[in-house]
Amino acid sequence: MATGKTESFKARKQKLRQSFITQFPQRLGQARELLIHLTPGSDQRERLDKLHLIFHTLKGSGASLGFDSIDASAKAAEHALREVLDQDGQVTVTDGLVAELEQQLHSLEALELALEPPHSHDTGPSFELSTRQATEGHVSKHRQRLVYLCDDDPQLAQELSGQLSCFGYQVIPFMTLDAVRQAFLAKPPGAIIMDVIFPEGRDAGPALIAEMNACLDRPVPSVFMSSRNDFAARLRSVQAGGNAYCPKPVKAVEMAEILDQLTNRIPSEPFNILVVDDDPDVAHFFAMVLEEAGMVTRVANEPEHVPGILECFDADLVLMDLYMPHCSGPDLARLLRQIPGYLSLPIIYVSSETDVDRQFKALEVGADGFLTKPLEPDRLVSEVRLRAERMRTLRSLMIRDSLTGLFNHNTILQLLEVALASCQRARNTLCIAMIDVDHFKLVNDTHGHPAGDQVLMALGRTLRLRLREVDLVGRYGGEEFAAILVGLDLDQAKTIIDGLRENFAAVTFFADGVEFHCSFSSGIAAFPEFSKASTLVEAADRALYRAKHAGRNRVEVAHDKTAAPEDT
Ligand code: GH3
Ligand code: MG
Ligand code: MG
Repeated sequence: MATGKTESFKARKQKLRQSFITQFPQRLGQARELLIHLTPGSDQRERLDKLHLIFHTLKGSGASLGFDSIDASAKAAEHALREVLDQDGQVTVTDGLVAELEQQLHSLEALELALEPPHSHDTGPSFELSTRQATEGHVSKHRQRLVYLCDDDPQLAQELSGQLSCFGYQVIPFMTLDAVRQAFLAKPPGAIIMDVIFPEGRDAGPALIAEMNACLDRPVPSVFMSSRNDFAARLRSVQAGGNAYCPKPVKAVEMAEILDQLTNRIPSEPFNILVVDDDPDVAHFFAMVLEEAGMVTRVANEPEHVPGILECFDADLVLMDLYMPHCSGPDLARLLRQIPGYLSLPIIYVSSETDVDRQFKALEVGADGFLTKPLEPDRLVSEVRLRAERMRTLRSLMIRDSLTGLFNHNTILQLLEVALASCQRARNTLCIAMIDVDHFKLVNDTHGHPAGDQVLMALGRTLRLRLREVDLVGRYGGEEFAAILVGLDLDQAKTIIDGLRENFAAVTFFADGVEFHCSFSSGIAAFPEFSKASTLVEAADRALYRAKHAGRNRVEVAHDKTAAPEDT
C-alpha cells in the first residue's frame, strides 16, 4: 500500500475521517431506501441482511475512526435487526422493528460529523511513541556498519580489522586511547571493539568506554577483548557497559557473530499483512496502523480478490472482517483452508461482534483469533506481530538449514522457480552461482568436524550479509551453496562473487590454536541464456566443475549454450 511515509499518522487518519464523513450520507441514503421498502408482515430476509450490514459497518468504522456519536444508534439498530434475523425460518418484519429502525436512522441523519474528534482519547499519543522508536531504529541502522577497534598492539589491530571487513563491516583500527577518543567524539560508531590493558592502566579500555558512553544518550554497543580472563577484568567491563567479552586470541568469525547481534546486522524482514474488509476506510485505517509499525500491507475490499492477492503477496497473516456481503469472514477462511499452502496461514477476524458464541462459531472454521472493534492501534499491532512472528518461526524451521540459517535445498530450488517466473514476466536478468568450498574434506580431516562447521557458518554469513536483500542464498548441499542474483548479468555477477571469494579466502580460522584458511570455487549461469531452473543449475554446476579442475579458488561462468542442448 502506498502511504506517504512523510505524512503524519494524524494527517492520514484525518483523511480517512474525511472520507468517512463524505460517504456517510450515501450510506444512510442506502439504509433509507431499504427501510422505505420494508413492509411489516412480510418475509424480507435479504433486505434485512443488507440493513444489518450497513448498521454493523457504520458501528465498526465509526468506532475505529473515533466517531463516537454514531455508536449508540448504529448499535441499537444492529441489535434490533439481529434479534429478528436470528430467528429460524421465516423472518417477519414487525411494526416495532420498523419504528425502531426509523428512530435510529433518523438520529444518525441528524448527526453532523466533525473532522476533528471532540476529545483526544484519540490514538495519537501511543503512536507518537511507536514512531519515535521506529526513527531511532532507523538512525542506528545507518551507523551500524562503522566499527572502531582499539588495541595498542598494532599488528593485532590491523589484522583483526582487515578480517572483520571481510564480513561487511567498515572497521577502523586505532592504536591509542587518545585517537579513538577523538574519533568517538567526532562520530560515534555503530559498535566498538576495545582492548582492556593499555599503557595508561590495566583497566584503561573499560574506563574510556565508560567515559565516552557518559556523554551519549544511548551507549554504543561495545565488545572487550583481552589477554586477561579474570573475574575482576570481566566485572570492570560489564560495569563499563560492555556487551560482550572475548579472551584473546580473538577469532574473527566469533567477533563477526557478536557484531551481527549487537548491530542487528541481519534485519528481520517486515511482516506482510493482508487486510480484508469490505469497508475501504476501515481496511485502510488498519493498513495504515500496521504500516506505521513497519509492516507491509495489501488491502482487499472484495473477498474474491483474496486468493489472487495471496498468490503474489507472501502474506504472514490475514486480518479479516467478519461480516461481508456475499462471502463472510468464516466462508472466506474455509475457502482459503481448502487451498494447499494456506492451511496454516494465520487468520484473525476483526469485528465489532461482541457476542462470544458468535465469535466462537467464527473461530471454529479454523481462524486463529478474534479482535473486537474499536481497536487501539497498539493492541492491533502487538496482536498481529505476535502471531506473525510465531508463524515466521514455524515456517523458518521448515525452510531453513539449521547450521547456517540459509534456505535449505528444496526451498532455494522453489525460490529459483519463483524468481525465474518473475524475471520472465518482467524481462529481467538473473544469475545463479553455485559455490563449493575447496578441499573441505581436508578441513574436516585436519581440524575436526566442528572447525568445518565453523567454516560453513562463516561462509553462510558472508553470503547473507554481503549480497543484497533481493538476492537469495541457500545451502544447496553439504559444503555447496547457491546464490540467486536478480537483475544482474553474467559479468556483474562474476565481479560480485569474485569479490566474495577474495574476502572469504582472507578470513583466518582457528582450531585448537592452529590457524587455517579456506577458499571456494564457483560456477555461474545466467537467465535468459539458460531459461529453465534445471538447465541453469546444471550449467552453473558444469562451470563449477571447470573451476575446480582449473585449480580451485576461482569463478567460472557458463557461456556455452550449445553445451546445454536440452535447453530449448
Ligand atoms: P572439492 O574441493 O573438490 O570440493 O573437495 P571437497 O573435499 O570439498 O569435496 P568432497 O565432496 O570430497 O567433501 C565434502 C566434505 O564435506 C565431505 C563431508 O563430510 C563434508 N561435509 C558435508 N556436510 C558437512 C557439515 O555439515 N559439516 C562438516 N563439518 N562437514 C560437512
Ligand atoms: Mg568442496
Ligand atoms: Mg563437494
